[in-house]
Amino acid sequence: METVRPTAEGVTTVKLKEVRAFGTRAAEAPLESLSINRRKPAAHDVEIDILYCGVCHSDLHTARNEWHGTVYPCVPGHEIVGKVVSVGDHVKKFKAGDLAAVGCMVDSCRECDYCKEGLEQYCEEGNTGTYNSPDSHLGSHTFGGYSESIVVNEGFVLRVPENLDLAATAPLLCAGITTYSPLKHWKVGPGKKVGIVGIGGLGHMAVKIAKAMGANVTVFTTSQSKFEDAKRLGADEVVLSTDKEQMNQFRGKLHFILDAVSAQHNINTYLNLLRVDGSLVLVGAPEHPLPVAAFSLIPYRRSFAGSLIGGIAETQEMLDFCGKHNIVADIEMISMDQVNEAYERLLKGDVKYRFVIDMASLKT
Ligand SMILES: [Zn+2]
Ligand SMILES: [Zn+2]
Repeated sequence: METVRPTAEGVTTVKLKEVRAFGTRAAEAPLESLSINRRKPAAHDVEIDILYCGVCHSDLHTARNEWHGTVYPCVPGHEIVGKVVSVGDHVKKFKAGDLAAVGCMVDSCRECDYCKEGLEQYCEEGNTGTYNSPDSHLGSHTFGGYSESIVVNEGFVLRVPENLDLAATAPLLCAGITTYSPLKHWKVGPGKKVGIVGIGGLGHMAVKIAKAMGANVTVFTTSQSKFEDAKRLGADEVVLSTDKEQMNQFRGKLHFILDAVSAQHNINTYLNLLRVDGSLVLVGAPEHPLPVAAFSLIPYRRSFAGSLIGGIAETQEMLDFCGKHNIVADIEMISMDQVNEAYERLLKGDVKYRFVIDMASLKT
């Protein structure tokens, strides 16, 4: 099987391979078994047999077209770990049998200022998402990790530390890098008091990583039931964010806050916890705008910012950091056919703290 494609070098023939996947054909439809085409590895490609794939909230948003622009059929999944099956002739970094991982991106322009600085996530041409992005090789759109295998240019394939539990490593590829990158960028480390708002897929990774970076970590949660867990994850202190008295004790005390909450919430309450020059960074994405009072920022020269995943080199650095500090996600393993049920539970926050699909269940 092959397809003929016009490229910069003229018309090229791309060899195809049909693989099993799980995805959806419409916003209202459940995910179901599909078959999709992958390209046969070209000179710089790595073919990966997917062993585990994490379930990110973005998967659900995209499958259901909640961010608009979803192209169907849609195969989500961008927390991918597996084993290399084959590599193209020019691939140096990987060989068959190696562990490998793929995160939220599979390509970018590689020529703009941001790509050259290792900030491919902010590529001026727009990065190529692992799913639901234009596929320059096949002419359709990209398909993600809810599938048997994936073929990715070696520049966007990551090495996986051998000492980590492989299934629990999958969520590092999105939840891990999404929290590691801002913690690193805003220089979280020893002597810094850091607040983490919300304990879910992102927040629980943020606590582990910020602790390993040497910071003093306070978790803010609306749920008393998460206190014990927050401590177990490594938090030095836990605050019930609905309790005014507890919140007041932290006014003007924190150097940095990572806000991983995607529900509507009062951002001023948290801005007021920052010291002079402190920063609050959003990684959660509430649907509606969050009103910010000028006087939550002005008197303390505070900053309010956002952050998107991380670059490829930084993602490798994060994986190596997690390998060194033995950090993985807390996961609940599911089989492929449980994914629709998992989406419903995700909506209720009923997971500790990331679903990971055992991809063997798709292959049998
Ligand atoms: Zn994600
Ligand atoms: Zn670029």
